[in-house]
Amino acid sequence: MKIAIIGAGYAGMSAAYDLRKVGHEVTIFEYTEYVGGLASGFKEPHWDWSVEKFYHHWFQSDSSMLGLIEELGWDDKVIFPRPLTVMMYKDKFHPFDSIINALLFPGLGFGLNKIRFGFVGLFLRLTNDWKSLEKVTADSWMMKWAGKQVYEQMWKPLLIGKFGPFYKDVNMAWMWARIKARTTRLGTFEGGFQKFADMFAEKLQAMGVEIRLGVGVRFIKKNQASGLSIDAGGTVESFDKVLVTTSPNLMAKLCPDLPENYLKGLLELKSMGAVVMVLSLKHQLSKDGYYWFNLPKEAGFSMLALVEHTNYVSKEHFGADHIVYAGDYLELGHAYFSMSDEELLAKFLPAFKKINPEFSRDWVKKVWVNKTNYAQPVPLVNHSKNIPVIQTPIDGLYFASMSQVYPWDRGTNFAVEIGRRAARMMVEG
Ligand SMILES: Cc1cc2nc3c(=O)[nH]c(=O)nc-3n(C[C@H](O)[C@H](O)[C@H](O)COP(=O)(O)OP(=O)(O)OC[C@H]3O[C@@H](n4cnc5c(N)ncnc54)[C@H](O)[C@@H]3O)c2cc1C
Repeated sequence: MKIAIIGAGYAGMSAAYDLRKVGHEVTIFEYTEYVGGLASGFKEPHWDWSVEKFYHHWFQSDSSMLGLIEELGWDDKVIFPRPLTVMMYKDKFHPFDSIINALLFPGLGFGLNKIRFGFVGLFLRLTNDWKSLEKVTADSWMMKWAGKQVYEQMWKPLLIGKFGPFYKDVNMAWMWARIKARTTRLGTFEGGFQKFADMFAEKLQAMGVEIRLGVGVRFIKKNQASGLSIDAGGTVESFDKVLVTTSPNLMAKLCPDLPENYLKGLLELKSMGAVVMVLSLKHQLSKDGYYWFNLPKEAGFSMLALVEHTNYVSKEHFGADHIVYAGDYLELGHAYFSMSDEELLAKFLPAFKKINPEFSRDWVKKVWVNKTNYAQPVPLVNHSKNIPVIQTPIDGLYFASMSQVYPWDRGTNFAVEIGRRAARMMVEG
């Protein structure tokens, strides 16, 4: 079969890998000039490793991604350091990434609340019954079972940070998936995620996959006889099958001929965008060597996460620059999307001073700001009923996106899984 894949992120590239392995003629169309999609990275001339535009790491439970890397023979290039994640309580940061540290965390006292926290965590790790959990909101479930103090100290700031105005609507299966699939060791690829994406793309090309970069697909139409036509950068080409890996919104724009109820389903899915600033600094920000700071918005922080990348991987890979991310998930139309880099910097820098009082503006060597409208799907109550099917009602047209990996939360691991699942469906017809 002659197959077109729209998007050279992990879903698109993983699908291409499996389709080409069984002999199909595959062309990937990618709008940007690079592969890797949301997990892509960039590199300064004096850096050996790339830095992801949006902070990225793998968990040891990411079996689809780690399995693919093993198949490709590159598992010796995956490293799993154990960086420190911290949580704030009364203006101080405390490590919170192991059972011992959770037991020592002062924010929950040392009595009933800690026991409730422990039991809720244990229950969520052991249960597989996410279908019952998706019937209620995380807000109401946590209030009931974890209790007000545990919820307000631990989980509510996370929900507010990730989902802003929708935080009360998110279902409990999202929280379950998050707790279930996470590990304290965090993985990356030697050289950065972009290095892996580039090696994967080279491998695909060597296998005979054509990757056309800088080519945005403008529409997909059903042919009168058979197959589908796509307009890629002004040239119309015909294919037997097409897999789209963009956001649901873009999918609806690309293919308005989809039946009304499928289009409606795509357009009704909610998601959050993200604004993430990457900074290179002259000095280390966290003297304690902390990697990930969970910042509660209610304590006046202007973002959700501050992440010192070079407390995770060595600064020697970045010409001794210290790399820090400051990022937030935001509803579309939020003021951060239209702010200049300087305005955003002015918003974010006060948090740096709270982490290290010695920090000053002249530590900042350079900043890069990355924005995306589609960063985090918002799963509402009974969300499983709203997931668009991969095999669309148009014969030969398939759709695989972050919004369909539910009940799992989005991630490159699940992009690989859904890409390969879509490829199987395309082959089986
Ligand atoms: C802030 C943030 C932090 C994250 N952290 C992590 C993390 O720590 N670990 C992790 O595993 N995952 C993380 N993720 C999620 C991860 O990036 C995604 O789940 C994954 O990259 C999705 O892959 P994909 O192939 O489904 O989509 P994408 O990567 O979005 O790929 C879709 C591709 O389609 C292209 N495209 C769009 N329209 C067109 C068109 N018309 N024509 C041609 N091409 C088009 C896009 O340019 C893009 O390259 C994070 C995401 C964000 C935003």
